[in-house]
Amino acid sequence: MAELEFASIMDGLKEELSKIYSSTTMSLWFDQLALLSLDDKQAVLVAPTEFKKDILEKKYLDVLTDKLCGILGFEVEIKIISAESGPMAKVPPLEKEEEPDEDISAYKMRFNPNYTFENFVVGKSNELAQSASLAVARHPAELNNPLFLYGPSGLGKTHLLFAIVNEIRKNFKNYHILYVTGEEFTNELIDALAQKKPVAFREKYRNLDVLLVDDIQFLANKLGIQEEFFHTFDTLYKQNKQIILASDCHPREINNLEERLKSRFESGLVADIQPPDLELRVAIFKRKSVDMGIDIPNDVLLYLAENIKINIRQIEGSLKKLKANSFISGEPITLEMAQKVLGDFLKSAESEDNIIDKIFTYVSKRYGVSKDALKSQKRNADIAYPRHIAIYLTRELTSLSQKSIAKIFARKDHTTVYNSIMVVEKKIKSDVQFEREINQIINELKGQ
Ligand code: ADP
Ligand code: MG
Repeated sequence: MAELEFASIMDGLKEELSKIYSSTTMSLWFDQLALLSLDDKQAVLVAPTEFKKDILEKKYLDVLTDKLCGILGFEVEIKIISAESGPMAKVPPLEKEEEPDEDISAYKMRFNPNYTFENFVVGKSNELAQSASLAVARHPAELNNPLFLYGPSGLGKTHLLFAIVNEIRKNFKNYHILYVTGEEFTNELIDALAQKKPVAFREKYRNLDVLLVDDIQFLANKLGIQEEFFHTFDTLYKQNKQIILASDCHPREINNLEERLKSRFESGLVADIQPPDLELRVAIFKRKSVDMGIDIPNDVLLYLAENIKINIRQIEGSLKKLKANSFISGEPITLEMAQKVLGDFLKSAESEDNIIDKIFTYVSKRYGVSKDALKSQKRNADIAYPRHIAIYLTRELTSLSQKSIAKIFARKDHTTVYNSIMVVEKKIKSDVQFEREINQIINELKGQ
């Protein structure tokens, strides 16, 4: 088996252990532990010294076995040998990584260093968002301020925000950069007010060079929070600091967003990300598989790209499944394996995507509203009514949770979905004609 896989198994094992043990224990006993061999019965681990081997055997064998089996998904026995004796004596001791200082490790926890511009694959549907992000990262506060990225879930907005952070940190080492989600901003503000510490909150947010707020649509309907955010925004903006925002919809479509915020969000560059076409999906999947150290033949890549269309996030799950399967079976990844392992997973995702498409098409035709309007934040009755119906149908015809349905309809949380379902159910109970209409729609959609 590839060394790379051994290394990633050990990474996983150490990560699990670090959840239980302090960093001192980790560096004393586990950091230098390596995996020498593995089969379906036994894993051989190498400790750097005879002494460490003894301690590991006496004190940590059970926990090591438990965690390793958890990672592998099957039972193995662990044998520990020491690098001081036997054939391993020649192996040079593993280099110890330098302890990151606290700042960096906190930063690492928050930022996935894997999200960079280098591994963001560009195509027609995301090139404006990517080039604007890169320009901002190279020249903060000179161009595109604020930068507002929007588009459906899973298409790379957060990836781009992290890429901006990583890039700015390379070139502007002294910059104070803060990445938060709209939800975190909200919670922090509420806490600050509850503890009567608004000044500290303001100092934190108003002394930045770059502020990134992800999922800013969370501020929808929250007028008090918007008020504070407005002042944060204005203070930074007037000092010529860079602001970057990401949302699942256009600023105009964020529900109950103060007009002055809408106009400020629009005043720099607003860039959308659209779902990727087949060519871009293949390129993204190729890139992901390389990054994950998995060798995937082209026909499998094409199979994945043809079947995963809406949310790129699904790709990582699929690749992990294939990797695990190939690891356990000892077979290379092939199209047959992919079809067998992912068939059901993709089929259910796919048919749900299809049915959702059909619901949108059907409802928009029947009630004369555009698909975009159904996802918009507009609340006039001629749009709200068909939206209630579309949401109800999605609940009836898919297995999606209310939370997932909320995402599809760009609602901020499941309460809107719940309300829509209630409205429709109530009407069904009181209006026979309407009940017949809904049943007819359901049958039609099912039958198609
Ligand atoms: P969003 O914030 O828009 O919901 P994310 O940024 O979390 O989406 O992206 C979901 C996943 O898809 C991440 O793993 C991300 O790396 C990946 N992804 C999306 N678009 C691309 C792209 N163009 N190139 C590489 N990876 C991408
Ligand atoms: Mg995101």
